[in-house]
Formats: sequence, structure tokens, C-alpha cells
Amino acid sequence: NSVTRGVTKEIPAVSWDDIGGLKAVKKKLQQAVEWPIKHAASFDRLGISPIRGVLLHGPPGCSKTTLAKAAAHAAQASFFSLSGAELYSKYVGEGEALLRRTFQMARLASPSIIFFDEDDAIAPKRTGPSGNSSGNATVGERLLSTLLTEMDGLELATGIIVLAATNRPNAIDAALLRPGRFDMVLYVPPPDAEGRYEILRIHTRKMPLGDDVDLWKAAERTELFTGADLEGLEGKSEAALRSLRPSLTQSVVDEYSNAAIHGPLTRRKH
Ligand code: ATP
Repeated sequence: NSVTRGVTKEIPAVSWDDIGGLKAVKKKLQQAVEWPIKHAASFDRLGISPIRGVLLHGPPGCSKTTLAKAAAHAAQASFFSLSGAELYSKYVGEGEALLRRTFQMARLASPSIIFFDEDDAIAPKRTGPSGNSSGNATVGERLLSTLLTEMDGLELATGIIVLAATNRPNAIDAALLRPGRFDMVLYVPPPDAEGRYEILRIHTRKMPLGDDVDLWKAAERTELFTGADLEGLEGKSEAALRSLRPSLTQSVVDEYSNAAIHGPLTRRKH
């Protein structure tokens, strides 16, 4: 880690190879995040304006956070992560201040990735039919407007890309999906059989496997298991594996994959 004017440059250690499956998603992230940072001069010369924000949506435990870290690693970019819990502080204005400070640090440590994890600023808490039920809506509104201002200001600062992960794509404020904000929306699906095989292989890399362990069979048997579920299988016996249940159901997966992301870019193909 190097220090850039008081800001520590932290680059995650996780790489694309640590993520099983998801070839298409990785490719899009390479194009949208890795290339513009690595080849900033060429993008500039050719007059291509890089994507400022990428929104990842999909069921929990399927590597949205890991993808964001791998993108930062590949681009050798500093990684700043913010969660809803950190932003929703009990003191008025603290969340907005943290948001502004994070963008400021990201500028100093650039190239940088700012990652919003399940964040209420991008998908605010639902309020009751009468509107504001708990006062959170106003906090959410202030955070959202600060985030919009910061993202719009990125034009001047090069080498900063904002990534966000959500389990609730339908709750994303449409203003965030306008051009120059989250220009790219990527669905991160649960792993298919091949993806599950790769995930099992990755997470058993460092352990000797018994002759009776057939990862292909395990991959075929684990439909609707998330990457996090599969990681938890590590080192378990055949008998234990048989008793495990996936954390997803088909209807939940369908709900995620059919999510309509509201906003003018919904139909844009990436
Ligand atoms: P959440 O929505 O709950 O935050 P997420 O989609 O961000 O989840 P991660 O936190 O990236 O998921 O993944 C959870 C764990 O599962 C990680 O420890 C990761 O190593 C493992 N995992 C998930 N998907 C994969 C994958 N495709 N390859 C390897 N490991 C995976």
C-alpha cells in the first residue's frame, strides 16, 4: 500500500481467476472498468468517455462484492467501500459528509473504485403509503442528492468509477440511471453447473481432495446454490453434502432476472 497525500491506497488482492463462472459479466467489467483505467491515455486520445457507474444486481451471495474487488485489482485501482449502515448515521448530515469525503479521498488516491454495497442511498428504504414513515426518506433523499452531485462532478476527475450492488433493483431511483451516472446495468445470476464446478474448484484449490470427491457431480447436484453456499461446502463429507439445501428458490431467481430497472437506459444493450 502506498500513501497518496495522506490517503492510503488499498488495492484488493482478489483477481478475476478467483471468481468461478460469470464469463460475460467479467468481460463487461473488464471493458467498463479495467480498460478505461489501464488505457486512460488512449481513451482520452480517441475521445471515448468512460462509463462512470456500473450497477450490479442479483441474488445475494453470488459475488457482486467480489466482482467489484476483482475489477479494482485488475485495474490496480484503490478500493473504497461504503454500506448503507455507514451512511445512515444518527447525526444529521454525517452520511452526506462521509459520502463527500469518500469521493475526495478517491480523487486523491486515483485511479479508484467506489463501491456501494446494498446501500440505501441507491435503493432507499421503503416508506409507508403516507410517505415518510420513519424520517429515513429525508435522509435517503439527502444522500441521493449528494451522490448525484458527486457523480456529476466526476467529469473533472479522471480515473474514478462508481460500482454499486443491490438486491433490490426495482427500488433504484430513476435519477441514478440517467446518462453519465449508472450507465451500465449488469445482472449477476446464480452460477450454472459449469460456474458451480469452477467455484468448487477455486475454493478447494488449497486442500487435498479424496479420490471419492467428484466436483462435477457435486456441481450438477447443487442447482440453486449460491457461490457463498458452495464456499461453505468446503471440506464437508459426502453425507453432509447430501443433507444441504440451496439458499435460493427458482421463484426468487426468476424475480431477480425479470427485475425491471426503471429509467431511460433500461432498453440499452451492453
Ligand atoms: P451480498 O449480496 O450478500 O452482499 P454478493 O453478491 O456481494 O453478496 P459476495 O459477497 O461477493 O456476494 O460473495 C459471497 C462469498 O461467496 C464470497 O466469499 C465469495 O468468495 C463466494 N462466491 C460467491 N460467488 C462466487 C464465485 N462465482 N466464485 C467464487 N466465489 C464466489
